[in-house]
Amino acid sequence: MAGEWQLKQQICDVGRRMYERGFVAANDGNISVRIGPNRFLCTPTGVSKGTLVPGDIGVVDIEGNQIAGSKPRTSEIRMHLAIYKERTDINAVCHAHPPHATAFAVAGVDIPNCILPEVEVFIGQVPIARYETPGTWDFAETILPYVRNKANTILLANHGAVSCDRTLEQAYFHLETVDMYCQILLLSKQVGSINQISDEKVRELLGLKKRLGIADPRLDCMESAEQCKVCTLSGSDEFLKGFSQRAIPQHTADADGHGRGRGIAEAPSQAGQPQPIAAAPAAAFPAVVAGRALGSSSTTARQREMNDQIERLVQLITDRIVGMTGK
Ligand SMILES: [Zn+2]
Repeated sequence: MAGEWQLKQQICDVGRRMYERGFVAANDGNISVRIGPNRFLCTPTGVSKGTLVPGDIGVVDIEGNQIAGSKPRTSEIRMHLAIYKERTDINAVCHAHPPHATAFAVAGVDIPNCILPEVEVFIGQVPIARYETPGTWDFAETILPYVRNKANTILLANHGAVSCDRTLEQAYFHLETVDMYCQILLLSKQVGSINQISDEKVRELLGLKKRLGIADPRLDCMESAEQCKVCTLSGSDEFLKGFSQRAIPQHTADADGHGRGRGIAEAPSQAGQPQPIAAAPAAAFPAVVAGRALGSSSTTARQREMNDQIERLVQLITDRIVGMTGK
């Protein structure tokens, strides 16, 4: 393991990367590294992670008592120590509020799995720990069931995310991976269908994961149960609802140039299309959403009405995508 000074520099470096990527605002977030059986480096409270210097980094014992350092330790060290107590193979913990991942934690929607291979190999299923007041031992305990179950990345309800691993770099990378994954999921949902990798191909990825020595509860399940399902979507149905495995109908035009969106009108339902969600004005496109015949008496009027509705639907989707990507 690197020397203590070098590790303090690594903590400052990771803090700066967290801040620059927008994973933390103001003085949010905290980082720690195990340097002995009862000694842990940790970031101070009330200091931006973007401007840390090695002299800011303190040392605490396993109970959270500060034993070195001029600045008071982070109040959230208890969560870090709970992880170190539970898992002796873990040497580093990072906590931040990465916006895309935190959006799932705020919505209370489980992140769907079996979609990107790197996520399956380096993270696996990401649980959400129930909400507790940050900085308390009760808060620290909310993550323990998942830490015991070998999770290296956990969402904290209405709060953020915590990641851990053998080295600081690995722990930090989990935050980057989970946040980019959540960003891709949100974009995919705007674009169209979200497809899963097949169960069989995910088993191949899990085999690779085993060879790399990365823990995953699904590996234990595969060894002990013949009918182990590696791609459960439990909980994430909430996020995926409104999509199906059906291909998006092709838009076609008549000879006169009209008929854009005919594929949509002819589809028996809106399967495969982004559905208006929650507060979206689904009622604004009742005929399109319900997939039933339009009420106009003449063909021309019906065509015009349908075109108007399609236009508004396209505009709604465009607005959402522009809004998400910040222009
Ligand atoms: Zn926090």
